[in-house]
Amino acid sequence: MRIGIGYDIHRLVEGRKLILGGVEIPFDKGLFGHSDADVLAHAICDALLGAAALGDIGSHFPDTDPRFAGASSLDLLAHIVELISERGYKIANLDCIVMAERPKLKPHIPAIRESLAAVLRLEVEQVSVKAKTSEGLEAVGRGEAMAAHAVVLFVAN
Ligand code: MG
Repeated sequence: MRIGIGYDIHRLVEGRKLILGGVEIPFDKGLFGHSDADVLAHAICDALLGAAALGDIGSHFPDTDPRFAGASSLDLLAHIVELISERGYKIANLDCIVMAERPKLKPHIPAIRESLAAVLRLEVEQVSVKAKTSEGLEAVGRGEAMAAHAVVLFVAN
């Protein structure tokens, strides 16, 4: 077995779509970044790369590379899924937390889990996504950012 952990944070700004786990969430702000800034997908990318000891998302998709400007983070995730499956790793399960003060993410969790499961080639039951507020504390709590944590477990094929 191998375990991997991932974390990411992005600023919330006006004039951007809010994309979490590949799902567009209706909100008056979105996450700022070079790609679509899908903070959840980025945390999962880093968890998968971490479990395989293959570096991090920045080393695979540098934010200085114009090829990744506006990129769908699910495409980046699909590429990483390919890398790990080529090496014979198999995902047992994934658990994630999205830290967001607003909007309420609970109604969107089923769609996010389905979206991620499809890219990860997993059953929805293998993909857990939880949402938490930051109780008004720090950047997430002030509504200035969203963050995500992800943990993944690989099992022998
Ligand atoms: Mg990121």
